[in-house]
Amino acid sequence: MSEQEIREIRLNPIVPTESVLVATARSMRPKKAEDLAPRDTRKHVETCPFCRGNEDKTPPEIFRVEAEDGNWALRLVPNLYPVLGDDRENANFTFGLQQTIDGYGRHEVFVDHPDHGAAVQEMSETHIEKMFRAYRRRMGELYESDPRLKYVLVFKNFGPAAGASIPHTHSQIIAMPVVPVNVEAEVRNSAEYYHKHHRCIFCALVDEALTFEATIYDRASGEIRRKVDVGQYVIERGEHFIAIKPFASRFEWEVHILPLVHSAEFLDTPDDWLPDLARIMRRTMSRLDAVIGGAQYNFFLHSVPHGEDAGTHAASYHWHLEICPRTSIPTGFELGSGLFVNTISPEIAARKLREVVLEG
Ligand SMILES: [Zn+2]
Ligand SMILES: [Zn+2]
Ligand SMILES: [Zn+2]
Repeated sequence: MSEQEIREIRLNPIVPTESVLVATARSMRPKKAEDLAPRDTRKHVETCPFCRGNEDKTPPEIFRVEAEDGNWALRLVPNLYPVLGDDRENANFTFGLQQTIDGYGRHEVFVDHPDHGAAVQEMSETHIEKMFRAYRRRMGELYESDPRLKYVLVFKNFGPAAGASIPHTHSQIIAMPVVPVNVEAEVRNSAEYYHKHHRCIFCALVDEALTFEATIYDRASGEIRRKVDVGQYVIERGEHFIAIKPFASRFEWEVHILPLVHSAEFLDTPDDWLPDLARIMRRTMSRLDAVIGGAQYNFFLHSVPHGEDAGTHAASYHWHLEICPRTSIPTGFELGSGLFVNTISPEIAARKLREVVLEG
């Protein structure tokens, strides 16, 4: 495949207002990975409150998941500096154009692994499975604890380039009284698609990725305008899950993981799907780490929101995990235009990810 220069604006099929400028020309290239601070790879740090032996340095544990050796494998603790917390007076006011909603919610931290700098691809699949099981358990508990909670977001910042302020490997869970705008946009647009086409747009995307190829001809001349090898976007395919490189990727190495069978709600994921999810996750992260040379990333779970109209999106929304490796810092152009700039063609990125040879 020739690595020809691409310069085009690609629309996100789910949220068309969110577009990406794919521009592989050198001039578009912002600050790159080599300038970003490296992540902490140490196994144990005496002074780290999340390392084994320092359990008394965190706020009281909400729950722990045990490892085979009886020690803890994963702990959940309240966040010391929560962005959302208990009810406060003086919230929920409207004055002219000033409106506030009470910053009520929960903010908690999963210590994902006892080893300080453990990356997901270095964890065992049994451990990753425990991690997803813990996410599912806490999400369920939080939704049940308070009907005012409309959205529970699980996410991980890994490495300083991804904004992780604590170097010990961890993820976070934030339960909030509002639905985040990007999730709201996905929910609304997929519902619209459903009304028009009577099917889930995420399922349609997966089907498209599993189709082999398409040739687009010019109507007048009959010449080939573009050959689309649609299957090239599949990075990993398991029994229940698929990892896809989005055609309109906002980030150079962005990959999404989705269940193959339609499912709107992460909480409904059956136990016997979790080993496959763990496997696809570990393999995808290994590929990313090999290609980028030390992946620093944000990942987040998008599942159907709760609240009054929760049931209405069961057929049209499809839960997924978005993995967004951070290899550059947003530029003024991106912040000022709202247009994401991707300097590596998603097709070439997908090919590089697929070419990684994995052991096991
Ligand atoms: Zn640590
Ligand atoms: Zn679906
Ligand atoms: Zn999403």
